[in-house]
Amino acid sequence: FRDRKLIAHIIPFENRRQILVTHDVTESERIDMMRRDFIANASHELRTPLTVINGFLEIASLQPDLDIPTRNAHLKLMSEQGERMQRLVEDMLTLTRLESMDHLLRTESINMRGLLEQILQEAHALSAGRHKITLDCQGPDIRGSTDEIRSALTNLVTNAIRYTPEHGEIQIQWCNAPQGPKFLVIDNGIGISPEHISRLTERFYRVDKSRSRETQGTGLGLAIVKHVLLRHNANLFIDSVPDQGSKFAVQFPPAIVIDA
Ligand code: ADP
Repeated sequence: FRDRKLIAHIIPFENRRQILVTHDVTESERIDMMRRDFIANASHELRTPLTVINGFLEIASLQPDLDIPTRNAHLKLMSEQGERMQRLVEDMLTLTRLESMDHLLRTESINMRGLLEQILQEAHALSAGRHKITLDCQGPDIRGSTDEIRSALTNLVTNAIRYTPEHGEIQIQWCNAPQGPKFLVIDNGIGISPEHISRLTERFYRVDKSRSRETQGTGLGLAIVKHVLLRHNANLFIDSVPDQGSKFAVQFPPAIVIDA
C-alpha cells in the first residue's frame, strides 16, 4: 500500500466490537487532479484571446476617431482571436463528449476510400499548394464510427501539414497487414525530440506553444485521437526524428475489417 492513499472509517459492530473499513482513493484523487489541471489549462488558453479582444475593444471606445486602416487591422486581430476561442471550445466539447460516452460506440460500415479521398481534398485545401500530398489506399473497409474515425485521421493529417515547412512531402497510406489494417501519415517536417513523444497525447501538451498557436493548434488534437482510437481498440505509434520528419501509425485490430 506504499503508493496508495487509503481513507479508514471505524464502524461500531455488535458486542462492542468495531469494523475498520478502508477505501482506496488513489484513483479518484488522480482523476480529480486531472480535472483540475484541465480546467486550469483551458481557462489559461481562453484568457489570452479574451485579453486581446478586450484590449482592442477598450482602444475602440477610448479612440473613436481611429483611422480606417488601423480599425480594420484591429478588427482582423479580434476576429482571429475569436476563431481561436471557437476552435478551443469545439475541441474541448469533442473531448468531453468522447469521455462521457465511455462505452457507447455507434458503429457503421465505413467506406475507407471515400473517407480518405475527402480527407485528402481537405488536406490540399489546408496546404494551399505548399506541400506535396499523396494517398495510397489499399486497405479494406472497416466497422466503426465514421465521425470519430474521420476526426482522428483528419487530426493526424492536419498536424503533418502544420508541422511540415513549405515544399515538404506528406504521404497518407491505408494498407492491410496480418495484425490488422493500418493507417500511416508520414511527413518530412520539423520532427519531434524523443523526450516529448510519450507525452504528446496529453491534453494541451505541445512541444512548442508559440508554433502550435501560429499554426492554429489547440493542443487537444492528439488527445482526441487517443480517445477515438481507444474506443476502436486501435493503437497509435509515433516515430520521429527532429528536423527529418515524423511517422504516425494507427494499428486497428483485425476484427474491425468488414468481411467481403
Ligand atoms: P496542436 O493543436 O498543438 O497541434 P496536438 O495535440 O495535435 O496539438 O499535437 C500536440 C503536439 O505534438 C503539437 O503541438 C506538436 O508539437 C506535436 N506534433 C504533432 N504532430 C506533429 C508532427 N507531424 N510533426 C511534428 N510535431 C508534431
